[in-house]
Amino acid sequence: MNGIPENQTFDFAPNVSQPILTKREKKAAYMKEYAKKRWINRPDAKAKYEKQKKEWYAIPENKKRMNDRVRVRRRTEHDYREKMNDYYSKWEQNNIAKKRYRQTEYRKNFPQKAAAHKSVYDAIEHGRLVKPTNCQICGVRSKLHAHHHDYAAPLDVQWLCPLCHGEMHAGRMRINHALA
Ligand SMILES: [Zn+2]
Ligand SMILES: [Zn+2]
Repeated sequence: MNGIPENQTFDFAPNVSQPILTKREKKAAYMKEYAKKRWINRPDAKAKYEKQKKEWYAIPENKKRMNDRVRVRRRTEHDYREKMNDYYSKWEQNNIAKKRYRQTEYRKNFPQKAAAHKSVYDAIEHGRLVKPTNCQICGVRSKLHAHHHDYAAPLDVQWLCPLCHGEMHAGRMRINHALA
């Protein structure tokens, strides 16, 4: 299923078999409808609400808490993932020069990492390594990055979509690698 090995475990469970509309998504759709009707004929109430909202967000802790919630939500939403992964690959297509430049810089700055990546692509070319089609964390079908847990073991990789890969490196996602 989605390229995730049966015995692999995760600290947070990527529930890829969920129906398209989760309970939370249904609620979100309901709230959206409700928000449309809420302020009809009540401009004063709306102004008051907006003011309170602004004040609430002005408090750094509140803002941070909300941002964290959004982050968690994004991490689990496939639509968002597909959209962003699409966006990244389009960006790469339209910014080839920038991408090349970054690649060259990367090779200069991180020779060990670059060598590990080369081993991976050589191994794929010669059939020693098979690249799956779906991200091994969120299961989304996407362009995949080979993530190394240890560059000394260049062929021990996990295949992640660009978004999961970014989150992995930002330390927001921890994988139990023991069984992988
Ligand atoms: Zn992913
Ligand atoms: Zn990585």
